[in-house]
Amino acid sequence: MTPTMVKRDASCDDDYDPNSLSCEAALAHILEHVSPVTGYERVHLRAALGRVLGESLHSPFAVPAHTNSAMDGYALSADSLPTSGTGHVRVIGSAFAGRPFNGEVGAGKAVRIMTGAAMPPGTDTVVMQEHVAVEGQRVALDGQHKRWQNVRQAGEDLKPGQQVFERGRRLLPPDLGLIASLGIGEVTVQRRVRVAYFSTGDELRSIGEQLGPGEIFDSNRYTLYAMLKRSEVEIIDMGVVRDKREAVEAALRDASQLADVVITSGGVSVGEADYIKEVLASIGEVRFWKVAMKPGRPLAFGALGPARFFGLPGNPVSVMVTFYQFVQPALFKMAGTTPTPPLLIKARSTGVLKKRPGRMEFQRGILSRDASGQLCVTATGDQGSGILNSMASGDCFIILGVDTARVEAGTLVDVQPFQGLL
Ligand code: AMP
Ligand code: MG
Repeated sequence: MTPTMVKRDASCDDDYDPNSLSCEAALAHILEHVSPVTGYERVHLRAALGRVLGESLHSPFAVPAHTNSAMDGYALSADSLPTSGTGHVRVIGSAFAGRPFNGEVGAGKAVRIMTGAAMPPGTDTVVMQEHVAVEGQRVALDGQHKRWQNVRQAGEDLKPGQQVFERGRRLLPPDLGLIASLGIGEVTVQRRVRVAYFSTGDELRSIGEQLGPGEIFDSNRYTLYAMLKRSEVEIIDMGVVRDKREAVEAALRDASQLADVVITSGGVSVGEADYIKEVLASIGEVRFWKVAMKPGRPLAFGALGPARFFGLPGNPVSVMVTFYQFVQPALFKMAGTTPTPPLLIKARSTGVLKKRPGRMEFQRGILSRDASGQLCVTATGDQGSGILNSMASGDCFIILGVDTARVEAGTLVDVQPFQGLL
């Protein structure tokens, strides 16, 4: 009897799979196939944080509107300054922020001035109070001052008529302040992208339910909720859907009626209970479903009618990696703004990083500095795609290119920090 030959298909265990797209190609493909949603709303300035501006904003006047003092001190004309030795000027009044001095300040005269006070007529220079000697109604000055010192010119922040923000700007904290400085209290923003999502799996229980044998709590719906919340989208949580073809089909149909984007987790692989791809192919369109990355290789992207579809893998780390690398840029573009390219920095690996060529890897790392101040990174430990704690204890992705093999300690690697300041 001849022994049966087992032919091995490419699997999750292989690093090279000819049917996988590169991360770059997958992202480019996704961005090509999503477009900004249409629709606007007027919102109060405070509610505009993180939203995408639907109009361009121009400054109706100069900011600051008045040339004013940058220091507490004495305002005078530079013509009254001594060119050498010590000179004196006579103090004829005071100017406070919001309470200007209205008279003309002539030669040999000065006005006591506070930060933010409008420069009185006839003055162009402020001498700091720390740099004078007060002698009754007079102050003594030396010859080391320059015309226009310590003065903020009208319009140095914004010129009248200047474009302050272009349509498509995602509003950040300084933007709210800048818009407020124009006296504008309401802005037009793009409507939020609507995102419906659900988890798939017979093993999943929701919080509050009893766990039976082999069951786990559904955590992906919470990480997804949190990532979507930060992305300023409208969130439609559709719960857990069981691994039954009809259930998956009904949920996908409902979701596509409700949302611009449908996201699922789990069931996108090649197991017997993995129906996502099959159903997507029958009621929508599968554009691709494998990316040469780790974690996260099974990642389906396609369309369900007008909605765009992301079938994320089930493993909790894979959900986060694929969301940040692919879904978030797509949501940015759909929201009407340009996705910001990831901030990559170089850090020295403190230890060996295990890897085989064939896939781009997103290992989780912790940044630190060595004694010489050089940025270093240490992997969080076991890099299994089920170890969600690696995302919580890490503060960056260590991104290793497709062809990279084992990385020796001391090598410079690309790192994408989790932190963003504004
Ligand atoms: P799947 O892609 O459906 O084969 O799932 C891969 C792994 O991720 C399995 O161990 C699942 O139990 C786990 N998983 C799937 N969905 C979730 C979820 N919503 N929360 C936590 N773990 C999940
Ligand atoms: Mg499953």
